[in-house]
Amino acid sequence: MEVINQSLDIRAKKEHQCDFCKQTIRKGDLYNNYFYKDGEPYSWKEHWQCSKLSDKFRNDNEYEYGEGMSHDDFIEHLLIDLKENYGINREGRTIKEMINICISKNGYKSI
Ligand SMILES: [Zn+2]
Repeated sequence: MEVINQSLDIRAKKEHQCDFCKQTIRKGDLYNNYFYKDGEPYSWKEHWQCSKLSDKFRNDNEYEYGEGMSHDDFIEHLLIDLKENYGINREGRTIKEMINICISKNGYKSI
């Protein structure tokens, strides 16, 4: 998978969906946008905060993301991080609530 272009720390001019968490990147939010070529070119957009969390999950785990971290990997690591590092179980919370708890625990502004 080859990155053919990337735009980091850009402000959204319109709404997008984050490919890590599948939540909305709101107009004005900081995000990263990558273009990959893997057969057909495609783009991957991520909240700035989700990018930071994914770096943390990669550093915390010795797991090799040869093909990159998927949405499912991201959510799985997020839930493990909250449980193991903060003793927080999902219980009745939505994924968005869990993401925002993890983001705030790591010192970033909620999505
Ligand atoms: Zn996100």
